[in-house]
Amino acid sequence: MVGMLLLETLLNEWKVATTADLVSAGVDKQLIYLIAQTGRIRRVRKGLWAAADTEPAICVALSLGGRLACVSASRYWSGLASSSGEKVHVSVTRGASRLASRQAEAVVHWSRFPLAGNEFAVALEVAREQMTRCVPHERYP
Ligand SMILES: [Zn+2]
Repeated sequence: MVGMLLLETLLNEWKVATTADLVSAGVDKQLIYLIAQTGRIRRVRKGLWAAADTEPAICVALSLGGRLACVSASRYWSGLASSSGEKVHVSVTRGASRLASRQAEAVVHWSRFPLAGNEFAVALEVAREQMTRCVPHERYP
């Protein structure tokens, strides 16, 4: 199925994509939902999709409308997988409002304005600053 290959190729490259991005790249919208049901791609939140192998911590952060923060961002920049059972530290800019259902999985770091970093995590300098106020030194990755 050409559409399925295109969809998986795009998500393998981008890791996450909105429905609009995928549709404008030529993927049929119905196909996105069908493939998500097979588990070959993952629905992160309404209108946002991830490759099946996208780091679970990133999916938690994005599902809350945020990015990895603090110790979770430090792990991300170090290339370490998130350790299972540990809460994901998420940077959320005030005004974001997708917290209610998933907050139990996360430690939320609020900020008044967007912090430096990429689309998945705050910058390492920012993460280290957050860690000094949040995580005991012996738990640094
Ligand atoms: Zn933290």
